[in-house]
Amino acid sequence: MAAVLEPSSAPVSTPAATPVQRVLEEIFGYASFRGAQREIVDHVCAGGDALVLMPTGGGKSLCYQVPAIARHRAGQGVAIVVSPLIALMHDQVGALDELGVPAAFLNSSLDADEARQVERELMAGRLNLLYAAPERILTPRFTGMLESLHERGLLSLFAIDEAHCVSQWGHDFREEYLGLSMLHERFPGVPRVALTATADDHTRADIVERLKLEDARLFVASFDRPNIRYTIVEKDEPKKQLLRFIRDEHEGDAGVVYCQSRKKVEETATWLAAEGINALPYHAGLDADVRRRHQDRFLREDGVVVVATIAFGMGIDKPDVRFVAHLDLPKNIESYYQETGRGGRDGLPADAWMAYGLADVVNQRRMIDESEAGEDFKRLQRGKLDALLALAEAHDCRRVRLLAYFGEHSAPCGNCDNCLNEPETWDATEAARKALSCIYRFRQAGEGGKGPRSFGAGHLLDVLRGKRTDKVAQFGHEQLSTFGIGADVSEAQWRSVLRQLIALGHLCTEGEYNTLALTDSARDVLRGAVPVRLRVATDAPRGKGKTGRSTGRGSADKPPPLPLDKAATVRFNALKAWRAEIAAEHNLPAYIVFHDATLAEMARERPATLDDLAGISGVGAKKLEAYGREILRLLAGPRGAHDDAGLAHDPHLD
Ligand code: ADP
Ligand code: ZN
Repeated sequence: MAAVLEPSSAPVSTPAATPVQRVLEEIFGYASFRGAQREIVDHVCAGGDALVLMPTGGGKSLCYQVPAIARHRAGQGVAIVVSPLIALMHDQVGALDELGVPAAFLNSSLDADEARQVERELMAGRLNLLYAAPERILTPRFTGMLESLHERGLLSLFAIDEAHCVSQWGHDFREEYLGLSMLHERFPGVPRVALTATADDHTRADIVERLKLEDARLFVASFDRPNIRYTIVEKDEPKKQLLRFIRDEHEGDAGVVYCQSRKKVEETATWLAAEGINALPYHAGLDADVRRRHQDRFLREDGVVVVATIAFGMGIDKPDVRFVAHLDLPKNIESYYQETGRGGRDGLPADAWMAYGLADVVNQRRMIDESEAGEDFKRLQRGKLDALLALAEAHDCRRVRLLAYFGEHSAPCGNCDNCLNEPETWDATEAARKALSCIYRFRQAGEGGKGPRSFGAGHLLDVLRGKRTDKVAQFGHEQLSTFGIGADVSEAQWRSVLRQLIALGHLCTEGEYNTLALTDSARDVLRGAVPVRLRVATDAPRGKGKTGRSTGRGSADKPPPLPLDKAATVRFNALKAWRAEIAAEHNLPAYIVFHDATLAEMARERPATLDDLAGISGVGAKKLEAYGREILRLLAGPRGAHDDAGLAHDPHLD
């Protein structure tokens, strides 16, 4: 391997360290494996197949990169990584390059000469890892090369990333993945590791069957993402709520805002940009070129907010996304989990924030009702939507519910809105009965010949609250026994009652105007047999700092990921500026050079020697060699800088 592993500059491993531990320390600069990583790495290194289910940010890449490097060192050749996306391959290889690990990709972004050069390196056994798309791997030319490597014992392992793409059940199905079962048939004895962040049983079974992984060992990590804080607020003025959330808690941070429609994406992005947020739209209706540019800026620049439909996200490996916001309800809990999971891959605090309201419930139900799908499928979708609504309406721990949905048992987390601020609840049984009986009276009046039989939520609320509108007069609704019986309950509370009744299936909406109708189960509520307990609707969150954490931020300078004193913050910012230059020079996203967390630790610990610097998590041998001196110089600061610590003089610097 390259000179980077010369002992003089490598971080010191204990002499007893195993080969994989040495790879982890020397190459990646990490002190220890996380969770099941160690077991997986050992299993694969020993030649076993594995199916790895790990949440986003769990550290899947290391599970095949460490074995690949270790096996290459042991003379076992190259690891082939199947990856569905060009951008992803590019960044992964860029990151390995920064670490000093010989790796390459083969995909359509290379011209013929470049591709041949990569093939030559592959056949010469120089590469530790080769990334390729499945369609490339399945070509006779490529399979032929693999066979030749295999015969020489130079095929160390296959890693199949985003393995859920093999399942039609999932959302990212890719036909070419189906062909990958041939790896098992043509290259017996080469270990295979399939990895995915999609947890459900159905997808898992598909992966095993279609990739022929029956003998693989299954590793299922907890799907908890403890650093993500879940918050779900009631929609009031959603755009303003969003802006307040970003300004109060995420000024200058990178984030994703999901909306349902292209139109809303455009509107929201434009509006945020006008309010001074660095926001860009992304949806399938935009030119491929524009989309690429926006995605690129998101990855490479600091603090870009992408407003997007769900077309955006898969393969976005950016670790420092600090928030994911939903302005519309996702389809189901799986989608919510996937989308929110794109925040905080680096393990630092991130927010999953959603604003949700009555119209969301109505729209989602309608979309299911009006879809072309069969009745069975619709029933399934309705069930999934109900589970999501229950999560949104919950007044207990959101995380407990989320994990329970994936079959994990947990205790209240202390890091969701409900845990942090136990919501006030009220007994809404009476109110629910009033609303349902008012809807019942509409129908009776309609049948008696006075206008339509059903009305929308707006009119219902007017009648309940005793407002004498034109419509009320037109249909004589002030005559109804239910007119004005709900004047004591605020409009916001009423909306939450209706939302809950729809969410629970006691009410449904009908027709073009979304008028409200009773379902069979409404009778039980009317009889008082079903108690309804609701969270107190927060009427107007304006200026109350309702979004939860109050960090007192708001300045343009982004706070560092660790608590740093003033001098350390200055150092942190200097390191970031330096990193931006290197990233631009290497045409890579900044986080591939160093993570924020690594820079923050440098700024805080202020190592004065290369040895000390090597002890910082995320500093491996190659980066130490390439950047160490420069970093030490930066940390030493300009001569005479205002600093209380008293500079240790570093002999390396002279
Ligand atoms: P995934 O692919 O599962 O979403 P990644 O492989 O991108 O996750 O890892 C997420 C982040 O965690 C990366 O920035 C990676 O460098 C870091 N990481 C992974 N394993 C470790 C470890 N053992 N120690 C420290 N950091 C780690
Ligand atoms: Zn909680």
